[in-house]
Amino acid sequence: MTERAMTEQPSQPSQPSKLFAYAPAPESRAVVDIAPSYGLFVDGEFREAAAGKVFKTLAPASEEVLSEVAYGDADDVDAAVRAARGAFGAWSALPGAERAKYLFRIARIIQERSRELAVLETLDNGKPIRETRDADLPLVAAHFFYYAGWADKLAYAGCGPEPRPLGVAAQVIPWNFPLLMLAWKVAPALATGNTVVLKPAETTPLSALFFADICRQAGLPKGVVNIVTGDGATGAALVAHPDVNKVAFTGSTVVGKEIARTVAGTDKRLTLELGGKGANIVFEDAPLDQAVEGIVGGIFFNQGQVCCAGSRLLVQESVQEEVLDALKRRLSTLRVGDPLDKNTDVGAINSAEQLARITELAEAGEAEGAQRWSPPCELPGEGYWFAPTVFTGVSQAHRIAREEIFGPVLSVLTFRTPDEAVAKANNTPYGLSAGIWTEKGSRILKLADQLRAGVVWANTFNKFDPTSPFGGYKESGYGREGGRHGLEAYLEHA
Ligand code: NAD
Ligand code: MN
Repeated sequence: MTERAMTEQPSQPSQPSKLFAYAPAPESRAVVDIAPSYGLFVDGEFREAAAGKVFKTLAPASEEVLSEVAYGDADDVDAAVRAARGAFGAWSALPGAERAKYLFRIARIIQERSRELAVLETLDNGKPIRETRDADLPLVAAHFFYYAGWADKLAYAGCGPEPRPLGVAAQVIPWNFPLLMLAWKVAPALATGNTVVLKPAETTPLSALFFADICRQAGLPKGVVNIVTGDGATGAALVAHPDVNKVAFTGSTVVGKEIARTVAGTDKRLTLELGGKGANIVFEDAPLDQAVEGIVGGIFFNQGQVCCAGSRLLVQESVQEEVLDALKRRLSTLRVGDPLDKNTDVGAINSAEQLARITELAEAGEAEGAQRWSPPCELPGEGYWFAPTVFTGVSQAHRIAREEIFGPVLSVLTFRTPDEAVAKANNTPYGLSAGIWTEKGSRILKLADQLRAGVVWANTFNKFDPTSPFGGYKESGYGREGGRHGLEAYLEHA
C-alpha cells in the first residue's frame, strides 16, 4: 500500500476499490464453440425432439440467446428410458474395474476441457468464471475420479457382499450448479452399474449437452447416459415413467413434494435434495475476520443461489456491531458485474423469474419492518442483477427469516446464549446446512450434535468434497449424495 493510500482513510465504504482500480480481465469466449442448436442425446446420438419443439437458452448476464435446444416431451422421455433399459444389461454386467475405466476417462476429459466447460457454464448460468473455474469444474472432475475408484470395490460399500444396481435412474437437476449436480448424480449411478436418463434445468441445458459429447468422446456404450432437455413437464414425465427404477431430484421443496407423491406406491427408489435456510452462527469468541469471510462466502457465493447457503446470520449480541461493521466494509469491496471477468465476485441472477422471486421477498422484508442495506454498486443495464443485500432487525416471524430466498440476501438475527442460538437455528422447516464460528472445540461438538442439519461446518462454510456425504433433514429432503453413503442410493442389498 502506498503512503498516500494509507493516510487517505476512506470515509465511504465504496472508496477502497477506487484506490485500486481494476482493469477489465475478461476470460476469452473463443475457447467454447456453442452450436446454434442442439438435439436430445438418446442412445448415443443427438436427435430432434419427436414433436420438433425447441426452446431457447439465454446468457442471464446479457439476455443474449446462446442456443436453441430440443424440447423433450413424454415420447422423447420414453425413447430415452428405452435406450437406458436397453443398455442396462451389458453395462451392469461389466466388471467394476471396466466401468471404472470409462469413469476415469470421463474425469480426465473433463479436466482437459475444463476451461471450455467453465466458460460455457458461466455463459449459460451467469455465475462468475472464478467460481466455475476454481470450484465447479474441479469438483465435477473430482466426483468422477472419486466414484471411478469405488466401481470395483462395491462389495465394501456397506450394502452386502454382492450389491446390485437398481436399473434405470431418472435424474432431474436444477440450474444453480448445472454440471456439478450432473456429476453428483451421474458418477455414482454409473459406478454402481445403473444407466441414466438426466433432465437438466430449462435455463441451463448446455453443459449437460457438452457432457453428452464427452460421453461419446470417452467411448461410453450407447444408451448408458441419455440427456433429455425440457422443462418441468419433461421432468414430470421422466419421474412418472413406469420403467424407471430410481428417481434422484435436486430442486425446490414444492416440486420435491410433488415428485414424492408421484413415486409413492411404486417400487421406485427416491432421493430428494431440496431447499434450505441455513444458519451461520457466530459466537463472540470467534475469529471475527475469518467469520466475516465465511459469512460472505456463505451467502454471496453463486449469488446466494445455493440450497445450503448461510442465508440466516445468527450473531451473538455482544459482537453484533463489530461483525456488521466489518461485514459492510467487506461487502463494499465485492465486484458485481460481467461474470466472464476474472475479477468478478458476484455475477448475474440466473433468470428473470428468479430475479422476480428475490425482489418480491426483499420487498416483503422491508414491508415487515427489517432494515435493508446494500453497498453502493452499479448494476449493468442488460441482464438480471441483484445487489448484495443485508437485512438487520430481522425477527424469526419475518418471511425473509423463514423462506428460502435463493439470492444474494442475508437476514441477520441475534442471540445471547448457545441454547438460544440452537433454538433459533433449528426453528425452520428446512435442515440442510449450518455453520458454527467459535474458538471452543467443545462447543463445536456440542452444537453440531444439536443442530438439525445434514451438514454442519465449523469455522468454515460451503466446503465441498466428493468423499463427504451431503443431504437434508426435514423439508430439505432425504438420502445422501457424495461419499460412500452416495452409493447406497443406487444399490440394492444382495
Ligand atoms: P424447480 O424445482 O422448479 O426446478 C428444478 C428442476 O426440476 C428443473 O430441472 C425443472 O425443470 C424440474 N421440474 C420442475 N417441475 C417439475 C415436476 N413437476 N416434476 C419433475 N421435474 C420438475 O426449481 P426452480 O423453479 O428453478 O426454482 C424455484 C425455487 O427452488 C428457487 O427459488 C429455490 O428456492 C429452489 N431451488 C432449490 C435448489 C436446490 O439446489 N435445492 C435448486 C434450484 C432451485
Ligand atoms: Mn441459460
